[in-house]
Amino acid sequence: MSITINGSQGEGGGQILRTALSLSMCTGQALRINNIRGNRKKPGLMRQHLTAVQAAAQICHADVQGDWVGSQELFFKPRQIRGGEYTFNIGTAGSCILVLQTVLPALLRADQPSQIKLSGGTHNPMSPPFHFMQRAFLPLLQKMGAAVEVTLERYGFYPAGGGQLHMRITPSGRLSPLHLPERGLLINAYAESVSAALPRHIAERELAHIQHELGWHDKQLQLLEIDPHQGSGNVLFITQEYEYVTEVFTAFGEKGVSAEAIAANVLKASRHYQASQAVVDQYLADQLLLPMALAGGGSFTTTTWSLHAATNACIIEQYLPIKIEYKKMPNGLIAVTLTSSV
Ligand code: AMP
Repeated sequence: MSITINGSQGEGGGQILRTALSLSMCTGQALRINNIRGNRKKPGLMRQHLTAVQAAAQICHADVQGDWVGSQELFFKPRQIRGGEYTFNIGTAGSCILVLQTVLPALLRADQPSQIKLSGGTHNPMSPPFHFMQRAFLPLLQKMGAAVEVTLERYGFYPAGGGQLHMRITPSGRLSPLHLPERGLLINAYAESVSAALPRHIAERELAHIQHELGWHDKQLQLLEIDPHQGSGNVLFITQEYEYVTEVFTAFGEKGVSAEAIAANVLKASRHYQASQAVVDQYLADQLLLPMALAGGGSFTTTTWSLHAATNACIIEQYLPIKIEYKKMPNGLIAVTLTSSV
C-alpha cells in the first residue's frame, strides 16, 4: 500500500516531505509525494531535502525515484531499518538538524545503535538551530524514552556551511506518551552570542542590549568568538530553562541590521513566551507532534497553532491512527492533545 501526499498543501514546505519520510520509514508504507515544496519560491528538492531523502533511503534500503535537486515528485518505498554508522554531507549550508530529525524516529526503532556524522549548516534561519535541538527538542524526546546524544563539532553558518554534527542513537523501542501540563518554575536563563570573523563589538552590543533590557548579571551573558575559518556569521540565543521544559530563542546577525535590533528580535520572542505561560512556543509545538504521535499520545499548551503545526498534523493523521486536536482556552493559550484512535 502506498500513501499519496500533496506537498503543496497547507504550509507547503519541506516539513511535509520530512514528516512523510520519517513516517514511511517507521510504518513501512511506501510514499508518493508530488508538488514538493509547492508553496516555496523555489519549489522542489533542495540539497538539504535531497540529503534527507538519501539518508532515509540508505538507512532503510528504500527504492527511490525522483531523487534529484529540483525534483517535485518522489516515490519512496522503504524496507527494514538498519542501524549502524552513517556519514552524510549536505554539500551546502542546508540544515543538518532537519536531516537528523528526519531519520531519528526510524533509528530509534533500528536493530542496533547508530552513529551519524553530518556536515552542512548547523545554525540556519528558518530551521531549528543546533542549540535548540540539543537543549529544547532532544530533552523532551529523552523524557519519552529516546536515548540520543548530539555533539556540535564545528559551527556551520549560512552561506558557507561546513558545520559538523555527530549524533549517537541507541534504539529504545516505542516512545512513551508525554503530557506537559505546565512548564514549572524558571531555573536558569542566559544569553549567548556566537560570532565568527565579525567585529567583536557586534556581540558585545547584542549582549549589552539584553542586559540593559532584562537587568541580567554578567554571568548570564556569554560571548563566544569562534575560528574565523569557519565562515563568517553571528547567532544570538536566549535560553530559558524551566523545570519541565527548556526553550531557546534565536536571532541571526544580518548585514544592515544593528546589533541592538537583532537583540530586540530575540528579546521579543522570549518575552512573548515568558508572559504567555504556555509550556512550549510555536516551533517546539510543530516538532513535538511527530514523536508524540509515534508514541501514541501526548499533550501540551502552546502560544500559537501555526500553519506548520496544522499541516504536520494532517500528514501525521494520514499515516497513523491518531487524532490531533487543538483548542483555544479562555487564557488565550492553545491546548493540543494527541489521542490514539485504536
Ligand atoms: P520548513 O519551513 O517546512 O522547512 O520547516 C521548518 C522547521 O524549522 C519547522 O519545524 C520549524 O518549527 C523549525 N524552525 C524554524 N525556525 C526555528 C527556530 N528559530 N527555532 C526552532 N525551530 C525553528
